[in-house]
Amino acid sequence: MLVSAKEMLTKAKAGKYAVGQFNINNLEWTKAILLTAQELNSPVILGVSEGAGKYMCGYKTVVGMVNGMIDELGITVPVALHLDHGSYEGAKACIEAGFSSVMFDGSHYPIEENIAKTKELVEYCDKLGLSLEAEVGAIGGEEDGVVGNGEVADPNECKMIADLGVTMLAAGIGNIHGKYPENWAGLSFDTLAEIQKLTGTMPLVLHGGTGIPAEMIKKAISLGVSKINVNTECQLAFAAATREYVEAGKDQQGKGFDPRKLLAPGFEAIKATVKEKMELFGSINKA
Ligand SMILES: [Zn+2]
Repeated sequence: MLVSAKEMLTKAKAGKYAVGQFNINNLEWTKAILLTAQELNSPVILGVSEGAGKYMCGYKTVVGMVNGMIDELGITVPVALHLDHGSYEGAKACIEAGFSSVMFDGSHYPIEENIAKTKELVEYCDKLGLSLEAEVGAIGGEEDGVVGNGEVADPNECKMIADLGVTMLAAGIGNIHGKYPENWAGLSFDTLAEIQKLTGTMPLVLHGGTGIPAEMIKKAISLGVSKINVNTECQLAFAAATREYVEAGKDQQGKGFDPRKLLAPGFEAIKATVKEKMELFGSINKA
């Protein structure tokens, strides 16, 4: 059964570790992440972007697949199904489809509008016992044309959004989606410390987890980060393993073209990546 992310993140914040959000794209992705979480006795958050939701034939399909898998694979660790960077409409659609957690990314709105929309969704999610993530200070990415530094959130705006009663808060602290550029300035720990001071027990979320050095991840966790999003890293691992299989000509040997064989190395690569992250985040045996 899917659960809200509230309890797992409250425990993570108190225990000074982080729960990974791993984004899913299809059946192999979902199965790899769920099985790894179960094997390592770790709580887990499955992230679905609006684009990935569309790709997987809509939110209802995603909910059906994930619920079916939890049942058929005998998954007993806490699993939250979470909309990643949702619009206001997307958040409502996911709630109706049966997601247990949503992110409303109102960071591109003026702060007043972000507050108004977040507040409405807080009430909506509270009634249904779902977790809600809000965002302050947009998180940069290579596609924005700004490389070098991600954006940094205003700690006072973070407090305003946290005070609305959201479950967890994503704030830009120089992190970036996708691969990090070589001249990246690193995370702004001063900003993170200031946000943590003003928001108290609120679990903080670090987006763009791919390529942030391990020491920075650990320091971020010590400063109140309790949820870390991983997406690109699983994609890179899957692509590299699949490439290796094909380049070795294995798809042309025997029944190597069978999708269950062709996709197996990528599946194993995702499992290894998720395991590595759960070790780094400290969530193993915290289910
Ligand atoms: Zn993100």
